[in-house]
Amino acid sequence: MRIARKRPDHVVPEYSLTGDLLSFRRCARQYRYQNGSALPPSRPVQLWYGEFIHGLLENVYRLWKSKGGLPFPLPYERLSMSEPIEEPPADLDEFDLRNLGWPVEESLLNQNKRARSRKARLAAYRRAEAAVNMLGPHLFPLIAEAEERVIGTRDIPGAIASEHRAEKYALTGVIDVLTEIELGSAHTDNLIRQAVQAQCPDLAGEFEVIVDYKGTRRPDTNTSEWRDGEWQVQTYAWLRHEQRRSRRVAAGILIYINELAPGEGDLLALKAALSKGRTDVGPALDSDRRMLENWRPGARADFSHGFLFSRAVRVIPVNDASIEEATGAFDDTVRSIEECVRREDQAVSILQTWLDDCLDGKTCAACDFRYFCEGYQRNGNTIGEEDRIEDEI
Ligand code: SF4
Repeated sequence: MRIARKRPDHVVPEYSLTGDLLSFRRCARQYRYQNGSALPPSRPVQLWYGEFIHGLLENVYRLWKSKGGLPFPLPYERLSMSEPIEEPPADLDEFDLRNLGWPVEESLLNQNKRARSRKARLAAYRRAEAAVNMLGPHLFPLIAEAEERVIGTRDIPGAIASEHRAEKYALTGVIDVLTEIELGSAHTDNLIRQAVQAQCPDLAGEFEVIVDYKGTRRPDTNTSEWRDGEWQVQTYAWLRHEQRRSRRVAAGILIYINELAPGEGDLLALKAALSKGRTDVGPALDSDRRMLENWRPGARADFSHGFLFSRAVRVIPVNDASIEEATGAFDDTVRSIEECVRREDQAVSILQTWLDDCLDGKTCAACDFRYFCEGYQRNGNTIGEEDRIEDEI
């Protein structure tokens, strides 16, 4: 009797869309150091801000759902620079943003995650207030699922069993919000409905829209961040279709939270982007245009809600061709990671294998590895200047 030889264990590596693929695309070397050593970043500034905004929005949505509504706009007793990081005063309104934000802060503190500075904490609350009060009344009524986990299996291009450790990979993601929109039933004054209709005028019937919050400004249209954001929602759409095919995903929405309450750095970047033709949304009203032209650092900027909303919300139509392009690009990213893993395994050094190819100065400024990385200064940063940059995040 012939007994089959034991086959080697089959490997299906798991890749998270944001934690692995977008991280690798941002900087291969930072990705390798963070993932290979399994150490959390020592200065998780962007991590704290993003998680705080996500956590607060989810908490407020769940409260809105359990109570059948909330009295928007919710109050916010402004934090001052001198206030310690502790439970808010007992006499605050129960729906004050500080009361709703404190459990999120507390949970992050328990994970040893805190804001980089008091200024950064104040900015986070200011933006959270804008996000809850400007988005909540329009977005919450459309939400079908929050924090939806999705997974699918894909081929690694060009991988063959005899040479590579895997021919397939598992792709995972967490969709912030899934909405089910029937255009005929959503209120005509719903700003999310209006934004989707403006970009996808031929839509009819029921469909899903994927929403992802970004704790950043709206990227310039010539950046990899702009393109990667689009590919991210297209790939979420593919993952969603793998799970349940009853409703098609018609669009994705990226919400750039900073745009709802822009800081000085955001406004300077906006002025520069407009002057160079690198952004797709500028002020439509004369009053907003004059405000931006005359604005100088240190001055107030009271833009119309319409302008802030149009900068914050980016609707991305989804179809079969756009999904194929995006998923193909991420397949190629997995192939690149697998190639780096293979080369490092063959004793090629980390520095030769995982390139310091980050193009974003702020990512470098918050990177734990900047002191021994040439990419940091190549991106226009100077050792000792990081705090100035990080405070603006
Ligand atoms: S300093 Fe910049 S280029 Fe260097 S590893 Fe960090 S993110 Fe990458």
